[in-house]
Amino acid sequence: MPTITLPDGTTRSFKNDTTPFEIALDISEGLAQCAVGARIDGVLCDLSTPISNDAEVKLVTARKGEKESDPDALELIRHSCAHVMAEAIQRIRPAVKLVYGPALDSGFYYDISFEGSEPLSSEEFEAIEKEMASIIDEDRPFTRYELSTGDGMKKLQDEGSKYKIDNAERAIEAGSDSLTWYVTGEPNSNWEDLCRGPHVPSTGKIGAFKLQSIASSYWHGDADSDSLTRVYGVAFVHKKQLKKHLKLQEESKLRDHRVLGKKLRLFHIDEQVGQGLLLWTPNGAVVRQQLQNFIGEELQKQNYSQVFTPHIGKLDLYRTSGHYPYYQESQYPPLIDPEQLSKLASEGCTCGDLSNLMKQGDIEGYLLKPMNCPHHIRIYASSPHSYRDLPVRLAEFGTVYRWEQSGEIGGMTRVRGFTQDDAHLFCTEEQVAGELIGCLDLVKIIFKTLGMHDYKVRVGLRDADSDKYVGDPEKWDKAEDACRKAAETLGVPWVEEAGEAAFYGPKIDFIVNDVLGRPWQLGTVQVDYNLPERFDLTYIGPDGKEHRPVMIHRAPFGSMERFIGVLIEHFAGAFPTWLAPEQVRVLAISEKSNDYADTVLDALRARGIRATADQCDERIQAKIRNAADLKIPWLLVVGPRDAEKNNVSVRKRGILQDLGAVSMDTFIGALTGEISSRGESKALEICFPDSEFLIDT
Ligand SMILES: [Zn+2]
Ligand SMILES: [Zn+2]
Repeated sequence: MPTITLPDGTTRSFKNDTTPFEIALDISEGLAQCAVGARIDGVLCDLSTPISNDAEVKLVTARKGEKESDPDALELIRHSCAHVMAEAIQRIRPAVKLVYGPALDSGFYYDISFEGSEPLSSEEFEAIEKEMASIIDEDRPFTRYELSTGDGMKKLQDEGSKYKIDNAERAIEAGSDSLTWYVTGEPNSNWEDLCRGPHVPSTGKIGAFKLQSIASSYWHGDADSDSLTRVYGVAFVHKKQLKKHLKLQEESKLRDHRVLGKKLRLFHIDEQVGQGLLLWTPNGAVVRQQLQNFIGEELQKQNYSQVFTPHIGKLDLYRTSGHYPYYQESQYPPLIDPEQLSKLASEGCTCGDLSNLMKQGDIEGYLLKPMNCPHHIRIYASSPHSYRDLPVRLAEFGTVYRWEQSGEIGGMTRVRGFTQDDAHLFCTEEQVAGELIGCLDLVKIIFKTLGMHDYKVRVGLRDADSDKYVGDPEKWDKAEDACRKAAETLGVPWVEEAGEAAFYGPKIDFIVNDVLGRPWQLGTVQVDYNLPERFDLTYIGPDGKEHRPVMIHRAPFGSMERFIGVLIEHFAGAFPTWLAPEQVRVLAISEKSNDYADTVLDALRARGIRATADQCDERIQAKIRNAADLKIPWLLVVGPRDAEKNNVSVRKRGILQDLGAVSMDTFIGALTGEISSRGESKALEICFPDSEFLIDT
């Protein structure tokens, strides 16, 4: 007699064993129609899973008209679609062997061995999709059956796929006491796959899908093992969602910072220099410098002190901070002190010995800094402080190095050396709340100037049941409250998450949605009770006694690399004038106007505007196209008539028509104003106050 508790707290009792489907049916026929699975006591299950004991059940539904679908429903649909794809591929290519087919964030893949047969080409997608559509049309049930591990292994041995045998062995090793199969239809007469499930109840529940790409992969991700073919697809509850997703994908591709970074020559990653080590080329360096100037000016207004520190520090420093020997796997190995190295060599120390010494942290040397904090702490500790000096705010665009797995590296968002917009605030307990608000103020100003209005804040609090946190609970309560209050002042959505705090203090994270609505996790502001303790930092209080300061780490934009990667995608490479590497290009209509183009160029550069002149032999239309490709915000087309009147004819990126002529001085004055105000003043409106513009969408 199971009693079922639903998410709204209501309960329903059943005479006999039941299933999520029966529960849905008991509520309404409509619900049963759109249910695709359930969470039973938190575990995602088939709709037909038997329930014999009391349980909490949340039905998972997929409705055609809904805008946002339940992520659980999408997961069930996507994994089920992987089965359908595998069946379709085996209909066309019966000899291929299946390996593993999980759901992904927006789709699914299946790893397949094509050994001994022709490799798969995306030209076959149409035929595969056709087969898939017919399997979905038939609305065949996903039927689960179970065998004992003995019978199951025997069946797999008979079938002879080493991949499925391996999957089963792993499942048994992980504690499974039986093996399960899912048949698309009826056992013994339809296609089946060894799988743990769960799935949607029938193929007809897979609403809309598309195959997307083929990649190569390795069995168990091991390059020395079998080569496999990974076929990717996407699936959604309904067509509209799929269409929206494909459109977003298309737009994302156009904005990909790796592609734009190359095209606009913003940065370069060079194999000879090293993976994940970004080279800022002149154009990208301008963007970074302008952004740093902007952040630097705001920091100055907030009374921060700029510091510079070296890229390495002694291992002892990191023993005190706790970064060494812990977290070794995410750092470059230490630079061993040359004297110690030759001493060890003369003692016959082997590579194995050396590696052990490193693991234990038993060597002398230096570390490429993984964090800036220890250096800043030593600056704070280098002179005595009274409570009257606090807060001390030390800021540095500090470059740090982390060892990221090579597979994780791509473009600007995952690198092995990066420069944080870092700062450390040393303050009294009472000052924490005010300092947090100051940190968030800065974020607000910068996001506003960059036109990033859609962002949210996540406040990470401690987990009440855990004892891993340092510092006394009363201080924690105060700091957590200060984080909440600071988040409140931003006027944007914020959430709090218990258990997300670091062990040394609560934190505030920033997540910004770019113009396509894609979320990007940026930096963080963190309260820290731990490092002041480890480094025995003090200040003299009004009572004349020593007290412990609190530290705040803040790098709200994360790193310059990541942030500018996000900005490239946000602006699709079309930076606002103040950030643009090349702000103005002067185009002479013909050779006759080259001298005047030079005059205009000189006048622009004299005012600090980043400008060039295109005086090549090409026709003016071609020059305009070239400049548009480089996303230069302003083009000044000059001919004999402009020269006579000291005018420039203006074209603006994003506006279709030629705006007409304006005096050179007016233009330069207005543009200088726009640049120095970082877009607050608009040159376009000053130069052409009464015009209507045809916007290029
Ligand atoms: Zn499955
Ligand atoms: Zn720090």
